[in-house]
Amino acid sequence: MTAHSPSSEADIVVVGGGVVGGAIALGLARNGARVTILDEGDVAFRASRGNFALIWVQSKGLGMPDYAMWSRRSAEQWHQLAAVLNDEAGLDVAHSQPGGFMLCLSEGELEQRRKTMQRLHNQMSLAEFPYEILDHAETRRRLPDIGPDVVGSVYSPLDGHVNSLKLFRALREATQRRGVDYRPNCTVESIVPRDGGFFLRGAFGEIATAKVVLAAGLGNARLAPMVGLDAPVKPSKGQIIVTEKTAPFLHNPMVTIRQTDEGGVMIGDSQEDRGFDTVVGQPILSVMAERAVRMFPRLAGLNVVRTWSALRVMSPDGFPIYDQSESCPGAFVVTCHSGVTLAANHVLTLAPAILSGALPETLAAFSARRFHVPAHS
Ligand SMILES: Cc1cc2nc3c(=O)[nH]c(=O)nc-3n(C[C@H](O)[C@H](O)[C@H](O)COP(=O)(O)OP(=O)(O)OC[C@H]3O[C@@H](n4cnc5c(N)ncnc54)[C@H](O)[C@@H]3O)c2cc1C
Repeated sequence: MTAHSPSSEADIVVVGGGVVGGAIALGLARNGARVTILDEGDVAFRASRGNFALIWVQSKGLGMPDYAMWSRRSAEQWHQLAAVLNDEAGLDVAHSQPGGFMLCLSEGELEQRRKTMQRLHNQMSLAEFPYEILDHAETRRRLPDIGPDVVGSVYSPLDGHVNSLKLFRALREATQRRGVDYRPNCTVESIVPRDGGFFLRGAFGEIATAKVVLAAGLGNARLAPMVGLDAPVKPSKGQIIVTEKTAPFLHNPMVTIRQTDEGGVMIGDSQEDRGFDTVVGQPILSVMAERAVRMFPRLAGLNVVRTWSALRVMSPDGFPIYDQSESCPGAFVVTCHSGVTLAANHVLTLAPAILSGALPETLAAFSARRFHVPAHS
């Protein structure tokens, strides 16, 4: 594929090289497609480089059973994805799914969690969505290092975590070995549908392709309307604290605390609606740290070595958007706030569907058309 040429050597261009674009590109290439990724430069907002690395199922999908099942399915497929990445990239992404906990620091919190889990459970069956509500004693039996302030927890055997930087690297390595043409510093400014294909333009020139997948994170909001799609995503800021490395003491991930395979403890991850502001703020960090120390008092003895914030890619209802353009066939959009959890589905299920030319009916619930329902008067 050459710039300024209407002919293309790639079958598909993926716009965005984050964990979502990387996973889609790998799935496309594994099924024989010639793929180019156009990715913005270092100035870009990159949710994939600042995430908490959970493969998380419990608490996902209240209000959208399809999403709960989609998350569960991806968690189940993660073993296969880890093997694929090992095989294709020669990298171990430290995948582990020993089950995850949500620790509660008051009876009120535990009661709220119990109600949420019950409502989720009412959407589906227990077999599909296993979980346990544990009191302090049972939580302590399973997690001996918890502090006295932990009144109980919710446990689900489905949850797990990975090393997200290794995941990102493995996706890049595997796509490269599959011949995917990754082009950094190529910001797509416009997409023009013409002659049954698409012309992508930017400072890099012009590239023509028959199919395009928008996986540009927050950039999708601007790009989608150019090909008859809608991706009304907004930033949701999350802050994370990382401690120095310490001896392994925490096998299971929590929704706000996990020990990485390298020994550091990650404490996360707040949710703030602050536009594109990525400033790390003491007030939020101190609340996160205080709660973490109450959960695991031994954390008080560890030095903090790093803090950061990153912007989640959030749709109006928090659920993914998977869509295909009706007015411009061959254009797709893929966006979500849980690109680690859903990576297995993206590589193994969604990418082959995109390559086949149409998303299956089973993914219809994820169309952005759900935002276009007229309000009742
Ligand atoms: C604090 C935090 C914690 C998180 N924790 C978890 C977690 O525990 N588990 C989980 O599953 N997920 C988690 N996530 C989400 C995860 O990181 C996913 O990456 C996220 O869903 C979005 O990934 P993405 O690839 O769509 O977006 P990004 O990582 O933002 O990637 C988008 C890419 O598109 C490029 N781009 C944008 N516009 C253009 C353009 N016009 N032209 C070319 N390229 C463009 C950018 O350069 C960027 O590389 C977390 C996210 C945050 C911020």
